[in-house]
Amino acid sequence: MEINNSTSNFIKNIVKEDIDSGKHKEIITRFPPEPNGYLHIGHAKSIVLNFELADEFKGKTNLRFDDTNPIKEDTEYVESIKDDVKWLGFKWDELYFASDYFEDMYDKAKLLIKKGKAYVCDLTADDMKEYRGTLTEPGKESPYRNRSVEENLNLFEKMKDGNFKDGEKVLRAKIDMDSPNMNMRDPIIYRISHTSHHNTLNKWCIYPMYDFAHPLEDAIEGITHSICTLEFEDHRPLYDWVVKECEMKSVPRQIEFARLNITNTVMSKRKLKLLVDEKVVDGWDDPRMPTIAGLRRRGYTSQAIRNFCRAIGVAKANSLVDSQMLDHFIREDLMPKVSRTMAVLRPLKLVITNYPKDQVEMLDIENNGDDPKAGIRKVPFSREIYIEQDDFMENPPKKYHRLYLGNEVRLKGAYFVKCNDVIKDEAGNVTEIHCTYDLDTKSGSGFTGRKVKGTIHWVDANMAKKAEFRLYEPLILDHEDGDEGKHFLEQINPNSMEIVEGFVEPFMKCAKTQDKFQLVRHGYFNVDERSTEDKLVLNRIVSLKSSFKL
Ligand code: ATP
Ligand code: MG
Repeated sequence: MEINNSTSNFIKNIVKEDIDSGKHKEIITRFPPEPNGYLHIGHAKSIVLNFELADEFKGKTNLRFDDTNPIKEDTEYVESIKDDVKWLGFKWDELYFASDYFEDMYDKAKLLIKKGKAYVCDLTADDMKEYRGTLTEPGKESPYRNRSVEENLNLFEKMKDGNFKDGEKVLRAKIDMDSPNMNMRDPIIYRISHTSHHNTLNKWCIYPMYDFAHPLEDAIEGITHSICTLEFEDHRPLYDWVVKECEMKSVPRQIEFARLNITNTVMSKRKLKLLVDEKVVDGWDDPRMPTIAGLRRRGYTSQAIRNFCRAIGVAKANSLVDSQMLDHFIREDLMPKVSRTMAVLRPLKLVITNYPKDQVEMLDIENNGDDPKAGIRKVPFSREIYIEQDDFMENPPKKYHRLYLGNEVRLKGAYFVKCNDVIKDEAGNVTEIHCTYDLDTKSGSGFTGRKVKGTIHWVDANMAKKAEFRLYEPLILDHEDGDEGKHFLEQINPNSMEIVEGFVEPFMKCAKTQDKFQLVRHGYFNVDERSTEDKLVLNRIVSLKSSFKL
């Protein structure tokens, strides 16, 4: 069920006020990713927030690539981001690239120079750091601060024309070296980088800095509410300064909200890229990754992700969300939708010695014991079946009600079987167990003669389809994004994936990539793209139960 998204939050209240007061007739929001990696679940929070806010007030949302740093950006990321936003269920009104505005930004920088509000500075990076001062000490003015407008215009043009090396000169805003806000101490607004850009190729060798570019991008597009994460709160005075001093007609308002942090999850693209580059994972869409592509491949649905994003809400204080909350939403979404079926993950052969050798029965088994409307399916049953290894014990503890020598259990949807014999290999491992069945105990026959305490699931040994099950645990142990102290590569869980080989019911032969199932007792699984004719590969999305309460 869709969670009602009319719940209020402080951003909605701001927007509502702006509409009620007539400040804006229509609102425009944007989602502005930098194409330097794949999107992750944190971005989903921002996407849901921006698109649904605009939707609720009948406004618009742009997808804008904030591509002002050519070193890290790539068209592969541009394409993946578009796919992910669409897959999450959102349609942007306009698609823009910040790099489309490089010419305008260059003109605005010249305007600042002409107004005496920007200057070319030759200090080295180290010197500049020293001149900046600290939180407790004011900064010192650069010796280049009082260059004439003509000299600045001339040097800036030479920067653009490629007459200087990377780092040799920068353009700085001339604001206030005494400001208690470090961001206002003559921040750099343009730097030299002789790097080819994914969109503009070699046209530019100077690139605007984020703090200069972002407010201009917002203003150029007429964004009314520019929503960003809390780290940018201290940048807001600079954001407003840029919009004002560049004389932008449209004045966007920056609003900050708390970023999403999830337990045992790193979410910065930089860190996720390291996991990919260091081959800790098998690409950006590895099912253990918190990327949208990884979650999709694991089997999470866009509906579950949207519901999760709505439920965590929008706040002004950073907090940490338990990863089990996301699991809650995927279970809630899949439970009523997917077929239930039996699969044996770690098979042990069970031979029914009194069952006719060449007989195969097609048993009627309910698709969902809790919901008769879900119908029945035909499941083949014969003399040899597989059960889970841990559904048999040679030396069972007390209260173990599954199979052991002399005990009788129900095979789900089939018959009672009783264990009479155990076959072992030379090493003493149990390789096969022998049972007898009782024809009178067939499921659905109304048999009441005696009761058994255990019911176990099974698949037919001759008809079942081979499958590989990939079982996941958190990729990262005891680390959150905020933990800068601990190097997260040392926190990798060495047991984040276990691969086991087993069998699924024959009807799953036709399963396709992205088909999802509830495997009885084992949880929810998604068919992986690596599946072949001979073998299905299934990713466990989530186990069946958790203790988590919303
Ligand atoms: P990363 O460090 O992962 O690269 P970012 O903030 O630099 O994150 P951008 O591509 O600049 O990534 O982000 C696009 C939008 O997504 C921004 O508006 C940003 O605030 C938002 N965003 C990124 N991470 C989160 C998060 N964890 N929670 C909420 N919003 C986020
Ligand atoms: Mg970034």
